[in-house]
Amino acid sequence: MARGSHCAEIDISLNKYKRRSLQEILNNSDDGRFNMSNTTQQLPTVYNPAEVEKKWYDYWQDKNYFHADVKEGKPEYCITIPPPNVTGSLHIGHALCYTIQDVLIRWKRMQGYETLCLPGTDHAGIATQNKVEQQIAEQGLSRHDLGREEFLKRVWAWKEEYGGQILHQFKTMGFSFDWSRERFTMDAGYVDAVLESFVRLFNRGLIYRGARVINWCPRCHTAISDIEVEYVEQHSHLWYISYPYEDGSGYVVVATTRPETMLGDTAVTVNPNDERYRDMVGKSVKLPLTNRMIPVIADEFVDMEFGTGAVKATPAHDPNDFEIGLRHNLPQVVVIGPDGSMTQEAGPDYEGLDRYVAREKVVTDLQTQGLIEKIEDYTHSVGTCERCHTTIEPLLSEQWFCKMRELAAPAIDVVKEGKIKFFPERYAAIYLDWMENIRDWCISRQLWWGHRIPIWKCDDCGQYTAAKSQLDACSKCGGCNVTQDPDVLDTWFSSALWPFATLGWPQKTAELEYFYPTDVLVTAREIIYLWVARMIFSSLEYLDEIPFKDVYIYATVLNEEGKRMSKSLGTGVDPLVLVDKFGADALRFALMQQAGKNQDIRFSDKRVENVRNFGNKIWNASRFVMMNLENFEVSSNCTAANLADRWILSRLNRTIRTVNESLAEYDIDDASNALYEFIWSEFCDWYIELAKPRLRGDDDEQSQARNMLYHVLETTMRLLHPITPFITEQIWQAMPHEGDSIMVARFPEVEESLIDDAAESEMNVVMDIVRAVRNLRAELGVSPGKPVDVRVVAKDDIKSLVERSADSIKALARIGQMSYSDDIDDSEKSKSLSANLAGVDIYIDMAGVIDVDKELARIAAEFDAISKELAPHEAKLANEQFVSRAPAAIIDKERRIVEELTEKKQKLVERKQLLSR
Ligand SMILES: [Zn+2]
Ligand SMILES: [Zn+2]
Repeated sequence: MARGSHCAEIDISLNKYKRRSLQEILNNSDDGRFNMSNTTQQLPTVYNPAEVEKKWYDYWQDKNYFHADVKEGKPEYCITIPPPNVTGSLHIGHALCYTIQDVLIRWKRMQGYETLCLPGTDHAGIATQNKVEQQIAEQGLSRHDLGREEFLKRVWAWKEEYGGQILHQFKTMGFSFDWSRERFTMDAGYVDAVLESFVRLFNRGLIYRGARVINWCPRCHTAISDIEVEYVEQHSHLWYISYPYEDGSGYVVVATTRPETMLGDTAVTVNPNDERYRDMVGKSVKLPLTNRMIPVIADEFVDMEFGTGAVKATPAHDPNDFEIGLRHNLPQVVVIGPDGSMTQEAGPDYEGLDRYVAREKVVTDLQTQGLIEKIEDYTHSVGTCERCHTTIEPLLSEQWFCKMRELAAPAIDVVKEGKIKFFPERYAAIYLDWMENIRDWCISRQLWWGHRIPIWKCDDCGQYTAAKSQLDACSKCGGCNVTQDPDVLDTWFSSALWPFATLGWPQKTAELEYFYPTDVLVTAREIIYLWVARMIFSSLEYLDEIPFKDVYIYATVLNEEGKRMSKSLGTGVDPLVLVDKFGADALRFALMQQAGKNQDIRFSDKRVENVRNFGNKIWNASRFVMMNLENFEVSSNCTAANLADRWILSRLNRTIRTVNESLAEYDIDDASNALYEFIWSEFCDWYIELAKPRLRGDDDEQSQARNMLYHVLETTMRLLHPITPFITEQIWQAMPHEGDSIMVARFPEVEESLIDDAAESEMNVVMDIVRAVRNLRAELGVSPGKPVDVRVVAKDDIKSLVERSADSIKALARIGQMSYSDDIDDSEKSKSLSANLAGVDIYIDMAGVIDVDKELARIAAEFDAISKELAPHEAKLANEQFVSRAPAAIIDKERRIVEELTEKKQKLVERKQLLSR
């Protein structure tokens, strides 16, 4: 905003602004009057988020409001935020996830809890290592050129310089996280927690070395977790290969998408229920291109619908075949190595070939022998490395594993017993299903960046020893030839400790004692298995305590068409650009309006723009209220003087109830929408209008109306604050207020006695009448400023209600005279326009409002003019030559013109009928 002339007088500058509490003001002023112009400045005419958001954020930080301490006896509320990757930058999903947490934290803080929202970042093993590998690749270097130690130095340097940008971006969103307690999954205390937990698991016998088929990236040279595998659609083929039976009784045909792996087949598998193969089970087939005989076996896992119903089993190169292999005791033949090329086991013709070159050769060789039955086009999804997009090779490999059954058992119980609740509830079933069928967890990664596995192997006796610090001698034979395992731990191994390691575990800290277990984990559905489950069993294992009481799974943000947002497709929105354009409050509110327990969010810039308009509405209403608070005497008790007052207090309290109840259930959308409706419609559109006549009334009326306006606005700002912190602070600071900031003011609590059903239903009648008269006025084309006379036909209760509220109705609907009767005769009816509402009919005498003859003449003239305009267009469309030759766009345009003008004519006909009655 330009520093124009009006800015000078209304600049709310913090150092200039003398801050006094409401009580102080009341105590010190001689006449008990609070003079707005002396203590606060007016609000600028236009709300400019960019001008205030940073100012208030700094102010809150200076006041240390985000900081939480151990305060014995005070109720606490704690969230340890899911740590974003240190490489991360803010996307819309983050904006949603962390706004939810800030809303909850601000709400609880205002409710008087000692609130801790602890931020931090995850070292994100593979993502961060990749960043630095890319960086050194520009100098023509690989990590192996630098060596482990030097490479890790570079990673730390990268982290110091570029890491954690996202935390700064969080600040522009207004998140009130306790920055003094920021943690990193590789800071010293955290590393200690990781080592401690690992050694405990190892010594309990829950960590073992074993061979498993894991997701292997031949480019990154590491095992990667399921979540790091990105599935992409690939157009490929399905090859049908004939395997001859050993006894010469023909062939079994298997279908595969990966013919090169046939060299590692150790069986052909069919479903035991498949009649076609019943007699073949137990026979042997000769594996083509090799000299091996392999059995035909039966396993329920085989899908009879796929291909021929007979599939090849390659235990070393497919996770499902691996499981089948264990069940049937099949050998594991590794034919593809870690670099993606064929091994010696693949045979001399293929050894050393790249896996794709080998595929071509295998197919050609099989064709030569007449063993390819057919080749079909086939589209399937293929796992690729999320980081480098190389196709994943499922590979049998020696890894460290964590035994899961024993750890999972108590983690199943706490969810079954309701000690941990999922919101939405359906995710509990997904969690339980996974936990009950859990497989052992591969925890080693062939990376350098991360927590190095604290296991030392003795080169003399082969003993593995786990230790928290450098091991110099074997725990079994005492020999000194011990070497530490070169791998690092899966990143999820360390983030599983996040809720308690951030609070000081394994030390017995006061924070852990006071804030733990935390209150809620807000997270994405994709990581229920990877993270939520692991935090739960880790906490139960190490602390014998749940990590959080609630798990709230937030929705996925899609674009307006319901598609996933993608940076590379350009279908995403950048939250920071939206903040720049519309302010953080607008983005926060727009997200919270859809943040419920329901479906995925469809999101677009437009929604944020709409909320910006809502902000302007609040701003303008506040300015109006403030202008009327000059020389205003604040009264601590606010009592209703009439129906409108009773109604707005009732609506306000209902809104307070809805907001508190909805936030408690994580239905933030309901809370937001209740606030939107209350502020926009009930307070701004109705109540302020209802209050206006009284602001022009006598002293008593004025002070009553001002008191109500002040009270409702001030309460509403506190109610709205957790969702839109900045604008509410800006407005609240300009009002008479108690305390230094709205963010530490008391959150409104419902006063049940003010909920007034009678007032609400009476007010509904009043509003219905006002709307009806407004509609009639519009139908008649009465200019907005011109009063109309209205006849109200109603009986008993409704009649007396209308009489009581006559002043309001007259003011809001611009009514001159309002007369009442029990009934109306037909001749009068015919001259009037009417609206029939429940229990009350409204009549407006047309003659008294418009000069009917003059209006009819005007309508006739307009009708003629439109007819003339319409004629040539109709003629064109009636001309067959034109219609057959003109371009479609031109014909469309003609049709639209005809439609529009015909509609206008129709309206005039209707209006003529209305007036000619
Ligand atoms: Zn990769
Ligand atoms: Zn030893």
